[in-house]
Amino acid sequence: MSHPPVILWFRRDLRLSDHPALVAAAAFAKERGASLLPIFIWEPGLIAGPRSSANRTWFLRESVTELAGSLRELGSSLVELQGPAATALPRLISELRATAGSDEIALFLTRDHTPFARKRDRAVADLLAPLGVQMHAKRGLVVVEPEELLTGGGTPYGVYTPYFRRWLERVDASAPLPAPKKLPPLPTPTPKSTVDQTLLDAHAVPTAQINELPKPGERAARAHADAWRRLVSEYASRRNTLADTAGTSHLSAALHIGLLSPRELVARELPLPPVQEGERSGERLWVSQIAWRDFYTQVLWHAPHAAHGAWRPSYDAIKWSDDQRLLEAWKNGATGYPIVDAGMRQLVATGFMHNRARMITASFLTKDLLIDWREGEAHFLRHLVDGDIAANNGGWQWCAGSGTDAQPYFRIFNPVTQAGNFDPDGEYVRRWVPELAALHTPAIHAPWAHPKALSEVGITLGVDYPEPIVDHAEARQRTLAAYSVALKPERG
Ligand SMILES: Cc1cc2nc3c(=O)[nH]c(=O)nc-3n(C[C@H](O)[C@H](O)[C@H](O)COP(=O)(O)OP(=O)(O)OC[C@H]3O[C@@H](n4cnc5c(N)ncnc54)[C@H](O)[C@@H]3O)c2cc1C
Repeated sequence: MSHPPVILWFRRDLRLSDHPALVAAAAFAKERGASLLPIFIWEPGLIAGPRSSANRTWFLRESVTELAGSLRELGSSLVELQGPAATALPRLISELRATAGSDEIALFLTRDHTPFARKRDRAVADLLAPLGVQMHAKRGLVVVEPEELLTGGGTPYGVYTPYFRRWLERVDASAPLPAPKKLPPLPTPTPKSTVDQTLLDAHAVPTAQINELPKPGERAARAHADAWRRLVSEYASRRNTLADTAGTSHLSAALHIGLLSPRELVARELPLPPVQEGERSGERLWVSQIAWRDFYTQVLWHAPHAAHGAWRPSYDAIKWSDDQRLLEAWKNGATGYPIVDAGMRQLVATGFMHNRARMITASFLTKDLLIDWREGEAHFLRHLVDGDIAANNGGWQWCAGSGTDAQPYFRIFNPVTQAGNFDPDGEYVRRWVPELAALHTPAIHAPWAHPKALSEVGITLGVDYPEPIVDHAEARQRTLAAYSVALKPERG
């Protein structure tokens, strides 16, 4: 009887380059003269659960299809299984056992750190160990693994700046692992795909405009990352301009499902240009964003309660408003604050939102409308093609004041000031709120304050574009009161 196949379970690592688990699995199989079985498991909760997104499912499905093609070019293939993994894997093992005897089966995978992935992987490990399966978890989703970087006192970092300093020292700057040129053969007979195509078809139709979504697959992601290298030095000066569509890398969706290795992207920017006269280079700033990604991953790893509640638990005492009318206006980009509406409409139309707009819209929901950050977190997750539990949660909690590094709650973004600073010509608003396109700055950012400009271009508030749904100054006072009541130190 032949040696049992080595299984390579692809998850959020849908690439061939710089893929430690792929390289290790192929080498292990070769050494034993065994076959290699690459698999992907479609988790029903990720396709159709409360935190799923048709935009992400589409991007994932297309990327999985491309990976399958790339594997075929290497003499292998990808067997897609219907999840949950806790059912699919034991079934696969018993199928393989029928032809491969009782030798230990090796299963290689890339570590994933989300609360869902941890729970799944623990359950799978418990189920597979008695079936004689040895799991080999490798790195590759983040640059520095969550438990690799702790403070001097052995506690997790809750502040980013010292984390980043130490993180930079820990980056493995070696050359990327090359994509294999050939892979061991598939086992025969090869297990059949069990994917529920009907379920997938129903949930993989993007809600965003398809031509606005990033191109799926490793090849397109790599081409995009290579083009970005020509712009990265300008990142420091361009990243905060809302209308500048090439001011940031737009690599977040590719990083989310591992079409690219974050370690490779960082390593190729090293050594970073020195900090000159207090100015950070574009390269350094950009690399520091990848460190934010690792930072929020380790925050959730060490504080899983933050997935559902405030990272600083005292913030759970805030009395949020349940005004559905305000929440709907925010979701629909109809708040009467053009910069907020532009961001919200960009999200729905493209599955992406500029980072600065994410901060402005999140601040508006939590601080102007006093609506629970979890409502916003869920809405973002429904639409973002880069929707990532850790980064999204970290971003929302930062904006609500309840997270790590959070700005003090009494520092509240003024949406009009933000608009003036980061959309100085009104170009971003003009693109996403076309009914205001005839207005110039400053009127386009605060139309209610410019009745003459409105009448000159024939725009009537409340008819052509909403009146502001709240008064920012009043909302600010209400929020300060609500936060200070909740956060008052307990007496006695
Ligand atoms: C409320 C809120 C929600 C967010 N939700 C998400 C999310 O679901 N998924 C997500 O990837 N990012 C999220 N971010 C972070 C950030 O907005 C996006 O990563 C960024 O806009 C993606 O665009 P880019 O690829 O052009 O980024 P770039 O500016 O080119 O940055 C490069 C990469 O670094 C990472 N990155 C950048 N900023 C952050 C950050 N603050 N936190 C974590 N990683 C970061 C991303 O992987 C990004 O692709 C959120 C931020 C806020 C304020």
